[in-house]
Amino acid sequence: MLVVQKYGGTSVGTLERIRAVAERALSRQREGDRVVVVVSAMAGETNRLIALANQLHAIGRHQQQATGTDGKGWVAPVKRDDPGFERELSQLVSTGEKVSAALLAMAIQDLGGEAVSLIGHQLGLVTSGSFTNARIVSIDAANIHAMLDAGSIVVCAGFQGLDEAGNVTTLGRGGSDTSAVAMAAAISADVCEILTDVDGVFTADPRLVPSARKLERISHEEMLELASLGSKVLQIRSVEFAKKFNVPVHVRSSLHLEEGTWIVPETPDMEAVLVAGVALDRDEAKVTLTNCPDVPGTIATVFTALGERGIVVDMIIQNASREGHTDVTFTVPQAELERTREALSGLAVASQPDVEILADPKIAKISIVGVGMRTHAGVAAKAFSILAREGVNIQMVSTSEIKVSVVVDEKYGELAVRMLHAGFGLEAGATRS
Ligand code: ADP
Ligand code: ASP
Ligand code: MG
Repeated sequence: MLVVQKYGGTSVGTLERIRAVAERALSRQREGDRVVVVVSAMAGETNRLIALANQLHAIGRHQQQATGTDGKGWVAPVKRDDPGFERELSQLVSTGEKVSAALLAMAIQDLGGEAVSLIGHQLGLVTSGSFTNARIVSIDAANIHAMLDAGSIVVCAGFQGLDEAGNVTTLGRGGSDTSAVAMAAAISADVCEILTDVDGVFTADPRLVPSARKLERISHEEMLELASLGSKVLQIRSVEFAKKFNVPVHVRSSLHLEEGTWIVPETPDMEAVLVAGVALDRDEAKVTLTNCPDVPGTIATVFTALGERGIVVDMIIQNASREGHTDVTFTVPQAELERTREALSGLAVASQPDVEILADPKIAKISIVGVGMRTHAGVAAKAFSILAREGVNIQMVSTSEIKVSVVVDEKYGELAVRMLHAGFGLEAGATRS
């Protein structure tokens, strides 16, 4: 069997952990499997490197360091819209994975195994798009196969590639998951194991909801939704690769050998369960433009201005018109709030007398996800009732075929997750096995 194992930051967070990972990879090889390992940077390292860049930026401007974290606890880079900076940021943060890859290869050698680590250009992983949020285009599988044939465990630095011009690029936060699944697809691996600090994919983040249950299986569609709605356990693009190239993905603990969660194509029985999981996103901000003239083209100019700056808008609500005026409310990533304000204040509509730009970063988006919603009515109504019973006011709603998302005041975010988790019976054994 050919296996790709990806170990996350906590799993390679100390030299002892790296040694344990080396033992696990080696024992897999000694059982007869061919093993490719993809590693993240040691825990906290990517944040540390981004914070260094932020500090340098602040010194140059005689500012207090203005570093925030995003909703997943990741340090957000401060400077944007500057290709030179983005290039160097990628160059900088990619070093974290180089360190852990080399240390792991050494640890395997120390244990008597054969291992070789590969970084950036040696991986032949070509990307397109931006420097720090690059997309994988191709991987040089022949090189990896040759090293496996020679008996090595191949240890790949995750999160990084090269663009056509030879610049080091990175794949966005959590990008080692995508490195691993794309690698598994490229070399036609039998399985891609994502080894992490939880036992699998749970009905909700087990750190927020202690009663959350591990799922044995989850469909690609549900995992895509959960990943895009705030669950950090897998980067969304890794799930896209898994689905597109049919890569069996197994999310499991790096600390023991118990089965975790398989990410699989949907099966008919999955629709019997209404809600597979609940996700929380604290990373968005709400923006309202009040009293906009209700004429054709207003909304178009607003969202064109944001689109041109690459600001991704999530939910959008336009109120019913009153006396030819209307309010438009939408959400953007918190890290983009300042750029959103800048983009809007430059528009003609913003200079009209009664138009105001209101911004509120103190919101949380909670989503329930499940393929069962396709065939069952009343899921949204039930979710609203559960929140109403707790006195949680809903500010915005959006739905799709397999999810319902609500925006509430940030202070009710965790409470709302727990209430929905309990209200849909997720802790009581009603989950899919
Ligand atoms: P790694 O460093 O291994 O890549 P991450 O921190 O990126 O790990 O992702 C694992 C974390 O994802 C867990 O520690 C957990 O807090 C979080 N998480 C969020 N939602 C879920 C979920 N539904 N199931 C499991 N873990 C989740
Ligand atoms: N080290 C990178 C990050 O923290 C990539 C990863 O861990 O997947 O985002
Ligand atoms: Mg991760």
